[in-house]
Amino acid sequence: MNEQGETLGADVHIKNKGSGLVFIISAPSGAGKTTLIRKVMEELPGLQFSVSYTTRPPRAGEEEGKDYHFVTPFLFRKMIEKGEFLEWAEVLGNYYGTRVPNLQELDSEERDLILDIDIQGAQKVLQQVDQAIAIFILPPSPEVLQERLVRRGLDAPEIIQRRLANAKKEMEVAQRYHYLILNEKLDEAIEVLKIIILAERCRKEKRPIFERKFREWEAYHGKNHC
Ligand code: 5GP
Repeated sequence: MNEQGETLGADVHIKNKGSGLVFIISAPSGAGKTTLIRKVMEELPGLQFSVSYTTRPPRAGEEEGKDYHFVTPFLFRKMIEKGEFLEWAEVLGNYYGTRVPNLQELDSEERDLILDIDIQGAQKVLQQVDQAIAIFILPPSPEVLQERLVRRGLDAPEIIQRRLANAKKEMEVAQRYHYLILNEKLDEAIEVLKIIILAERCRKEKRPIFERKFREWEAYHGKNHC
């Protein structure tokens, strides 16, 4: 018997491996969601990013198969017809979709899935996936969001205005999410997201840990006649 493994078993498991959970992460564009997700995935093992399909063209630095699968509207429609999406939505004139995940495989391979999807997609996933946990990332204020959108220089002024109008709509449903993270300081937001993931893993593992340990206690008492 591995003494160290036995003592650390449950904790190490939760920190190093996923539990087949699905984490939905939504935020207004510019709230810092992409950086937050990337950092947490670097720091916490057992997380897999769900690469969405989109009809929007790649931005500078984006890679096919890593950030998105970039597809034509024709292919996207075919995928809808074949029922390949868990959910799909139109966001600011482009289509985005999440392919149906293999939840059993995720569980048996001890991974959690991270979905970076908008509020429409989040509702659809919550209706279909029991183990989905919804987390909303809030920017500190509308002014900070506007400043970040201008500073990142990806969008024309009219697109920035649309993103800000969209952000208000997104804010209105934020309270339906299980968790809200205020992204004022990136380091703190990273810690909070990690804590949420670990807490949800603990919740999922409660029953298996209890059952395993309870059998041990039964065996101990049987052997010692107490
Ligand atoms: P962007 O074009 O800035 O990468 O993403 C625009 C919005 O689409 C973001 O809110 C992002 O979370 C959302 N999005 C990305 N992938 C999906 C998806 O598969 N489904 C849905 N519903 N939204 C997505």
